[in-house]
Amino acid sequence: MVGSYFPAQLTDWLTSGKTLFLTIHVLGVACFGYIVARRLVPLLRAERDPRFDRPLARLAKVGKFWLGQWKHPRYKTAGTLHILIFAGFILLATRAFTVLIVGVSATFVMPGLSGEAGRVYNVVTDYAATIVFLCMIVAVIRRVVFRPARYEVPARFGKAHKADAVFLLALIAVLMVADSLFAAAKAGAQSQLGQPVESLAVLSLPWMLQIVFASSSLLTLRDLYFGAYLLHEVTFYFLLCYRPFGIQFHVETSLFNVYFAKLERGTLKPVKWGVSDEHLDQVKSFGVKTFEDFTWKHMLDFYSCADCGRCSDNCPANAVGRPLSPRFISIKARGYAYRHYPMFGKADNGKALVGHIYSEDEIWSCTTCGACEEECPLLVEYIDKIVDLRRGMVDDGNVPQSLQKPLKALESRGNPYGKMEKKRGDWANAEEFQQVCRVKTLGKSDKAETLYFVDSITSYDDRMQAIGRATAKILDHVGGNFGILGAAEKDSGHEVRRFGEELLFAALRDHNVDAIKASGVQRIVTADPHALNALKHDYKDIPPLEHISQVIAREVKAGKIKFNAVENGSNVYTYHDPCYLGRHNQVYDDPRDVLDAIPGLKRVEMTRSRDRSFCCGGGGLMMFYEPKEEQRMGVKRVQMAVEAGANVIVTACPFCMVNMEDAIKVAGLEGKLTAIDLAELVDQQVVREDPNATKTLGGACGDSSLCKTSA
Ligand code: SF4
Ligand code: SF4
Repeated sequence: MVGSYFPAQLTDWLTSGKTLFLTIHVLGVACFGYIVARRLVPLLRAERDPRFDRPLARLAKVGKFWLGQWKHPRYKTAGTLHILIFAGFILLATRAFTVLIVGVSATFVMPGLSGEAGRVYNVVTDYAATIVFLCMIVAVIRRVVFRPARYEVPARFGKAHKADAVFLLALIAVLMVADSLFAAAKAGAQSQLGQPVESLAVLSLPWMLQIVFASSSLLTLRDLYFGAYLLHEVTFYFLLCYRPFGIQFHVETSLFNVYFAKLERGTLKPVKWGVSDEHLDQVKSFGVKTFEDFTWKHMLDFYSCADCGRCSDNCPANAVGRPLSPRFISIKARGYAYRHYPMFGKADNGKALVGHIYSEDEIWSCTTCGACEEECPLLVEYIDKIVDLRRGMVDDGNVPQSLQKPLKALESRGNPYGKMEKKRGDWANAEEFQQVCRVKTLGKSDKAETLYFVDSITSYDDRMQAIGRATAKILDHVGGNFGILGAAEKDSGHEVRRFGEELLFAALRDHNVDAIKASGVQRIVTADPHALNALKHDYKDIPPLEHISQVIAREVKAGKIKFNAVENGSNVYTYHDPCYLGRHNQVYDDPRDVLDAIPGLKRVEMTRSRDRSFCCGGGGLMMFYEPKEEQRMGVKRVQMAVEAGANVIVTACPFCMVNMEDAIKVAGLEGKLTAIDLAELVDQQVVREDPNATKTLGGACGDSSLCKTSA
């Protein structure tokens, strides 16, 4: 179609339909413009969301995730198909627009595509059209015959979208056939007219169609040429206008969705953009209660979801039968938008979402693990939306009964257990431990360079205090001048914030920031990834901080930490990535490097590891909430460790430890699998000048049978 030569006869054939083609163009563009304008109405009524900053970083995201299709190969078959289709679309875009213009200006040639460049482009796009056509056939067969489980729609989430998906795939196939037939008919006619024939790519769809119609009369070729053009034009505009009603709206919105995607990991959106914390008390309504409380970007997410099911396929809540499947958070909201913002007539807005399209349990079931966001090829966000929906419920006094007591205790005592503030540092102040490792409690008289921020679970839970002691001994071993805040520390508030209690979080944060600043420390270390995430992303103006695994890895590299060989060489270790250390803060290699530095330690990877790690069941307040589920997440996780051939599961988070140890009991794996924290393992294996130092305390785990088994 694109070339320097265009036979007059062919030009005449198209010219006869010029008025019809022009009418379709005008109608198609007008309809599309109207539909998009209507789809934009809720976005214009939505909450603000400042996503117009850092254009270069955003363009880099577009290059990687949209143009580069970065996440698609995570699913090999579907990913390959999508990459081929996407590449085909990109290549064919110029050809499709050229064809459309040719209908009203028959001799039109796209600038830059005349002569040899045009011939090369034609060959490339002949193959592109063929590949896209074949991909459509394969995609339809997958949907209809093989039916991957992740595309299915459980009855509680609504009706299946298979018919819509197949219809759209078929339309694209028709578009490719129409395009190829147009090229084939043209080449056939050129041949019969004795004109130079534009060469078609060998074995491409246009090439095959040309052979099929080689002996057709000129009259038939004329009808095919005209008919193929008309079919191409009608299908093109029908697809353009139909997509915003179904699951393929992402074809139009994905570029914008990726450009405006969130740039920082681990962060939460504020209650309201533009309202500072000091003015939160003036906010009339917190969180998302109605559809219009979502931000415009979150609404764009709903439009952009391709319904591919990857998020739900990786969601631990979905995997254990909780009433949450992130894909349907989007699909239900999109359905709501389409119903309440119709193409014609007035919008019917302002309805409460929870209790209507979402259930309370659905929203409380999320552990904020981030697996859904990590997987989504279109960078759809879930955690901010779920937290915003929780903020709305909390604002209405709608908090699960089991969470009320720990939240009250956090308010009055600064920890969810309701324990005395003055007992917070008891784990470190015990005389026996102080003889082995002096831990300063920072205050007016005691100063230190490094703060060990302990957080509530490690401070108060008898078992987790062993992680605290191991961490302190490691800091002591590497010569760190460190201390703890003791009674001056309060819960980091990480989970409080993610459960939607913004004002309580702000009070905890402000208290801790003041205490940290007053301590005069230069840096902060923690062994709790939830504290790490809160201090790093939710706090401001505090010294830099690290997780203990990062400190250990650095000191191992520097030669300050050396390890004894493991005593039991037949043990097989596997590392479980805590969500708030791995996915949210990208610390994957340091813990593994530390394990691999221990002589004789055999390590295997679970299938779901690193950024595909499977949540242990959630930290913080999740321990006080009993969701409806068929199986515990922790049980599924420890079974994965056994399947990988491990008998020791190493983690680097006290909450993971609670869940793993419980799960080992529930799964009946006692004696077959043990769990240990990385800090505990390092404390056990580290070479000390005084080899009796560890034995004095019976190891970081005290008398725990777990440590004896795993060492
Ligand atoms: S949110 Fe993303 S991963 Fe989930 S179904 Fe939609 S496009 Fe797929
Ligand atoms: S954050 Fe985790 S639990 Fe929550 S919806 Fe996403 S994958 Fe599921």
